[in-house]
Amino acid sequence: MLVDPHVHSYFSAGEGFASPTELVVAAKRRGLDAIALTDHESCAGVAEAIAVGERCGLLVIPGAELVVGRKRHILALGIPESPPPQVRSLRDTVLWVRDQGGITVAAHPFFYGGLGTAAVLCDAIEVHNSCGDRFMDVRAELPAARAQMPRLAGSDAHSADMVGLGRTWVDCDPTLPSVLDAIQSGRTRIAKRTYIPAGQFLRWIDEHFTPRAARRLKLAGAAIYFTHLMRNLLALPLDFLRAGRAGRVVFSRTGTEQNNSTLHAIHRRESSARPRSDSRR
Ligand SMILES: [Zn+2]
Ligand SMILES: [Zn+2]
Repeated sequence: MLVDPHVHSYFSAGEGFASPTELVVAAKRRGLDAIALTDHESCAGVAEAIAVGERCGLLVIPGAELVVGRKRHILALGIPESPPPQVRSLRDTVLWVRDQGGITVAAHPFFYGGLGTAAVLCDAIEVHNSCGDRFMDVRAELPAARAQMPRLAGSDAHSADMVGLGRTWVDCDPTLPSVLDAIQSGRTRIAKRTYIPAGQFLRWIDEHFTPRAARRLKLAGAAIYFTHLMRNLLALPLDFLRAGRAGRVVFSRTGTEQNNSTLHAIHRRESSARPRSDSRR
């Protein structure tokens, strides 16, 4: 199934501009089989998205993008509702999501709000985010390879025209338990990586914000983007030196259709596997 696991609607506290219905229709039109609705701290749009998805034949994975610990972002997929307010730390959130039968994904781990190398504490890792750039994606491949983590590509769409820019092929049946199980088991492949062109992103800001807010957002966005770009660029050589053979494969093949099994095979040979829980409960 072709899945976009990271999509925001207008229930994302001023940061999304399409209704759940518009997102589902856009996803179906672009040939996707499933999307995860991952609004910021909210599952308010999930019921609408599921109802429309059932009518037009698109699986909707209920979810949310949660802020944990020191303002770090993770995707919670397969949860029935947002976590209670007392669940705030990364550890508590990961455990709470598993308890609900869901899984966690480290969103854009080397960009604003990313977990960095703590991404390995989640069940899967977003190695492509269409709002980011190639450098942060390459950095995300390394912890994914080291910890043998399932890899996902998502659009992080905040409007209907962005849905599906990042896509993951998941080897599963078209049911929620099957798709969650397949992601957690690593039966995923990066199907599409497309970065939102800067011009389109600037036009998108102009369309959705007042001129004053748009100016502020562009300045703040540029500062955040270039800070992370420089940080990732400077960190890459060090990552490369530390990474060993798994890292060399990642660097030489990132952007191609490299799949988890290649990296898993390297790790089975070269490293002692980190003990991981395979069950969601
Ligand atoms: Zn985020
Ligand atoms: Zn997001």
